[in-house]
This record gives sequence, structure tokens and C-alpha cells, in this order.
Amino acid sequence: MSFKLTIIGSGSAVPTQTRGVTSQFLNFNERRFLIDCGEGTQLQLRKYKVKFQRLQCIFISHLHGDHYLGLVGLLSSMSLLGRTKKLTVYGPEELEELLRFQFKVAKVHFNFELEFVHLGASEMQVIYEDKVIKVSSFPVKHRIDCWGFRFDEQPKEKNVNPSKIEEHQLKLEEILAVKRGEDITREASYLRNEELTLPETPLVSYAYSADTKYFDKMADYVQGVNLLYHEATFLEKHSDRAKATMHSTALQAATIAKSAKVKQLLLGHFSARYKDTSELLSEAKSVFEHTICVNDGDEFIL
Ligand SMILES: [Zn+2]
Ligand SMILES: [Zn+2]
Repeated sequence: MSFKLTIIGSGSAVPTQTRGVTSQFLNFNERRFLIDCGEGTQLQLRKYKVKFQRLQCIFISHLHGDHYLGLVGLLSSMSLLGRTKKLTVYGPEELEELLRFQFKVAKVHFNFELEFVHLGASEMQVIYEDKVIKVSSFPVKHRIDCWGFRFDEQPKEKNVNPSKIEEHQLKLEEILAVKRGEDITREASYLRNEELTLPETPLVSYAYSADTKYFDKMADYVQGVNLLYHEATFLEKHSDRAKATMHSTALQAATIAKSAKVKQLLLGHFSARYKDTSELLSEAKSVFEHTICVNDGDEFIL
């Protein structure tokens, strides 16, 4: 399993000299996903050498400009550069209407299939699944409808220990049963699955919280992930602003990470009022030690 997350933009609201607005590129076992696409994402993708024609799916959390205004430009460039491969965009229902209208008035014709999948569920829901990975959306609490995304590696078949095949003279059907996780019952013996298989490698998981105010249920949605990206727009001393704009503080993000028992917390979507992130980091670390404040271009490999 390979997993690489690239932070394409780590800021909030408006792009600045040092931070682009929100976007992330995820290569999860050769599935190439873009998560949010704020203004300027296309240029940032070029800067960080992400081949955007190879994207398979784009996930848009909500329709605030800093999360989707780069989409028209990116899709137009894909078309101009001769894309033919299908692309699927997951996002709020109105996104399809918005984009289709833009392309209609500009008489843009795509040579590739552009499929829209509407997010709308009020509970966690699987929105993409193949043999290797699964993507779920979950509703968060923001000023407008907004969803986070969780990416999970699918449970793998077990690896049978070759020396045990030999030792117990396992037949083909028995090997297949062991791979499925079953025990083997014979007339005179009982072979437990754990004795016949090699240790499993832990499954990889990632969650993206989108823009949200603090709410307890978030910890259920992102429970136990290896890597959690959580917005930390404000410091606790500006919690009145966080409340008014339905964003989180660094302390609140860390509280979620702690109660969800995640391994690593990434913070982003910082308000431009903070010239550096040291205070945000120390505030979060007072609750959850394994925290990093991300910058554009950062890469995380699992
Ligand atoms: Zn935002
Ligand atoms: Zn927002």
C-alpha cells in the first residue's frame, strides 16, 4: 500500500504570498484524488509537480470560494490539454448546476466524461469503493452544507505462512479459507487462523475534516485514523470569531484528535491574521502532542 498526501494549499479565505487556499492531492495506492480546489489550485499543482490529467476523482467539501473557485479553471485546462479520461466530481448538489451553467455560456465542450456525484447524506456514507480503498463522506457543522471525507484501506486477504502449508499439508480449498480468515477443522485437529497466517500490516486511513465548528460527533467519524487533517482557523483567544464563523480553534482540533485516538494530527486553514503558526502549534500540543502545522508543498507518506 502506498499513501502520499501533498498539501497544495493550506490557507483560508484568500490566497496570500505564503499560502494558497485549501486543496490537497492524495495518491492512495495509485488512486489519484484531489480534495477541495480553491482559487489558484491549478498553478499550485504545477508548482508541486502533480500531473492533474491523471486525477480520477475530485472531492469538494462545500461551496465557500476558498474550497472550489479553482475548479472551473482546472477543468477547462484539462479539456484544452486534451483530456479524454472520465473524471468524477463529488460535491454539493448545487456545484453541478453552477459548473454546467459556466460551461454552457462559454460553450465549452469536453472530450471527456464529467460525472457529478451529489453529497447529501446526513450520516456517514460510502461514496467510492474499489478492491483496495473506500472513501466515505460525513456531514460537518459549518455556515453552509459541508462534508468531510474519510479514506480507508480495505481489509486485505490474509497471507498464509508457507511453512505452515508444508507442515499441515494444506489443500487448496483450505488455503483459500485461511486467506478469508477462517479456521480449519479436520477430523482429528483444529487449526486456528492465527497459527497459519503471517502478521497483518495495519490498514492505512486518512480523514479530512473540511471547515467545521467543534462538535463531539466528529471524533466518531474520524475514529482511529492514522492521519487526521483538521482545520484550525483560530487560536482559543479568538474563539468568539471561531464561533461566529463556525470554524475551529487549534485547541478544539487537538481535542478531536485526542478523543478520536488518531496517530497524527495535521492543522491547516489558518486565518491570515497569524503571521506564524507557533502559537497555534503550542496550543494544540498542550492537548495532543503529535501535531504538525502544515505548509503548502508539505508531503506526508504512510
Ligand atoms: Zn474555508
Ligand atoms: Zn467554509
